[in-house]
Amino acid sequence: MLKKRYVGRFAPTPSGPLHFGSLVTALASYLDARSHGGDWHVRIDDLDSPRVVNGAEKRIFTSLEKHGLEWDGPIVRQSSHRDLYQSALENLDKQGLLFACDCSRRKLAGRIKYPGTCRDLNRSNLAHSALRVRVPDQPYEFNDLVQGIYTENLTCTVGDFVVSRRDGIPSYQMAVVIDDDEQEVSHIMRGADLMDNTARQLCLREKLNLSLPRYAHVPVFTHSSGVKLSKHSEATAIDDRFPSQNLQTALQLLGQPVPAEKTVDELLASACANWERAMVPKTPSIIDFVSV
Ligand SMILES: [Zn+2]
Repeated sequence: MLKKRYVGRFAPTPSGPLHFGSLVTALASYLDARSHGGDWHVRIDDLDSPRVVNGAEKRIFTSLEKHGLEWDGPIVRQSSHRDLYQSALENLDKQGLLFACDCSRRKLAGRIKYPGTCRDLNRSNLAHSALRVRVPDQPYEFNDLVQGIYTENLTCTVGDFVVSRRDGIPSYQMAVVIDDDEQEVSHIMRGADLMDNTARQLCLREKLNLSLPRYAHVPVFTHSSGVKLSKHSEATAIDDRFPSQNLQTALQLLGQPVPAEKTVDELLASACANWERAMVPKTPSIIDFVSV
């Protein structure tokens, strides 16, 4: 059997500038791909249009370029995949796996697991409702390349989950599975805050008969105060004027040797040559890198 080609990706939401935590994730997936002779793609997760901020996309590209993280091929946008999402939904529906759910956010407030309220109502009109997929009572297991073995039975955790929102936008779980499959992504290296989304994605891949990628969840880095460095926190955008220093700090956080080289290209070449996936910590070390 032919060994599958390594294809990695970085998929930011254009809801703000790139933050340090995202740079660390981008760098990890970039180095893992490049050190395995793989391709590395950038995809813009722009489906959730209310969260999309004008100009954010361009700032993200600029930051990636300043840090030497050059991607392969054209930028892909989720908004160009609407037909693919639709046919995947039809596929699930034909298998009898979907049901309409009109439970309000308020009704489900505070619940982690969907209680199955609408599961057996057998409503034939699926329009204007959220759509959920029936999850099987079975464990989904994967061997994460950073975190190790992870097992989850969805009937015990989240229950039947949303694949299409009431406003017709596919859920993150649905979109990311289709996007990654369309780009033939073989290795998904992303933030560990998405670890507990993976079983839902494995379930969808199984139901849609899609091949399984390898997963690697890198720690999500925080301020010393413990605030997650995401676009939702007050964390500041990375300072594109100091790309070498930013890369050195990111490498340190990823447990990699920190080269003394000065230019971005030299740093990345050295980091790629020395990349050791096994050295990536499972949990974040807390470093006050904001002062770097
Ligand atoms: Zn419901």
